[in-house]
Amino acid sequence: MNNNANGFAVQNAALTYPRNAPPAFHILAKPTGAICNLDCAYCFFLDKEVFYPGSKFRMQDDVLELYIKQLIEGHQTDHVTIAWQGGEPTLMGLDFYRRVMELAEKYRRPGMSFEHTMQTNGTLLNDEWAAFYKEHNFLIGISIDGPAELHDIYRVDKGGAPTLKNVMRGLRLLQKHGVEYNVLTTVNRVNADYPLEVYRFLRDEVGTTWMQFIPVVERINDDGLTLYQEGSQVSDRSVGAEQFGRFLSVIFDEWVNNDVGTIFVQTFEAALRNWLGMGSSGMCVFNQTCGTGLAIEHNGDLYACDHFVEPNFFLGNIKESHMIELVASPQQVKFGQDKLDTLPQYCMECAVRFACHGECPKNRFIDTPDGEPGLNYLCAGFKQFFHHIDFHMKLMGGLLQRGREAKEVMAISKQVFSNAGRNDPCPCSSGRKFKQCHGRPVPRPKLNPLPSPQTRSNVMGR
Ligand code: SF4
Ligand code: SF4
Repeated sequence: MNNNANGFAVQNAALTYPRNAPPAFHILAKPTGAICNLDCAYCFFLDKEVFYPGSKFRMQDDVLELYIKQLIEGHQTDHVTIAWQGGEPTLMGLDFYRRVMELAEKYRRPGMSFEHTMQTNGTLLNDEWAAFYKEHNFLIGISIDGPAELHDIYRVDKGGAPTLKNVMRGLRLLQKHGVEYNVLTTVNRVNADYPLEVYRFLRDEVGTTWMQFIPVVERINDDGLTLYQEGSQVSDRSVGAEQFGRFLSVIFDEWVNNDVGTIFVQTFEAALRNWLGMGSSGMCVFNQTCGTGLAIEHNGDLYACDHFVEPNFFLGNIKESHMIELVASPQQVKFGQDKLDTLPQYCMECAVRFACHGECPKNRFIDTPDGEPGLNYLCAGFKQFFHHIDFHMKLMGGLLQRGREAKEVMAISKQVFSNAGRNDPCPCSSGRKFKQCHGRPVPRPKLNPLPSPQTRSNVMGR
């Protein structure tokens, strides 16, 4: 049942929707809390264990049933995403997810469909898991940071040993069973210098057609830890702003000349949607406001966002308040609206704000050039990247608006850029010379030597 035209509460058989209830929302559920079988050095979530002292970190059946019931009831749409993350969600074992399927069926409304998703490190997968995923049409997100020399620097197990081999074993099982998956790559201080190595590895050796690139920005708190979104210093694993912009730009150039229509990079898809003025980019960080992507802990505690699982952003527990009341609470509505309302003037006047929107509030902890607080730490990189892709985005947007295919951009791009001399003005109209813009040689640092694998303890000095 839908909200009425005035947006006031609407009664259905099960529930009265609060006035500000969004028709649909997304919750990342953490059935094992922060517990994981690996010990990735930059994982922002492992430390969160301290918020639940003495907990066994396993979602109990009463919480699970309430969660599925309220998630379904809280949706006014016929499509519901049921998303699992961690920690490492496969630690719950397959029976837990078999129970999820039973409960989803129990509370399904007529005509309702589900999308089941899980983000996993992939190391615990076997044929049984893969067959289960296939049977229930799961979309699996799997974390890979690049070839072994890059992946194994930070993504290590509890003993500090490399993990890529095991991840690839899990991924091949997904491929064998025909499970839909995408790859999530965290971009850190080290692999950010190797954009082509990362991209080509994922494309050519992993064989994925869907990629997400997530910047590692770890704020150091007063106590030297990275538990809260506080502090203006970042860890030395964090990617640099210009470094991240360069990483995205180099991959974009490779993609826009070779892979449009066959490889999907989430950031590029989101950018194209914003260039087309579609209203939503499909990525909360590049939307004007946020607040409809929340996180739930193993005990039913609901938080404003996966990146804000900390006491100041605690909304309530679903055993005490219905999830939709928390999702629609003034606190959560303000959280989402603040993404726009707290943008500094520097962003308001920025030529690429329509694409960037100040990115994620968690990264807004530096000052603007004129001293206003609240600028995104990655600003310089986003500015560079969004200006860099402007020419091709407009080309693709124009093609799509004329009913043609975005992939035609590849041939047009080759034609336009192939005759440009090094010292000619860049054909993209940036005003810079070709050699300083789209003709700039791609930086290709050597892959070795690289730092040895780092455990959380030796990186964080604990
Ligand atoms: S705080 Fe950041 S990650 Fe969380 S919903 Fe908002 S934009 Fe997305
Ligand atoms: S590029 Fe920088 S100034 Fe522009 S909207 Fe993004 S964060 Fe703000």
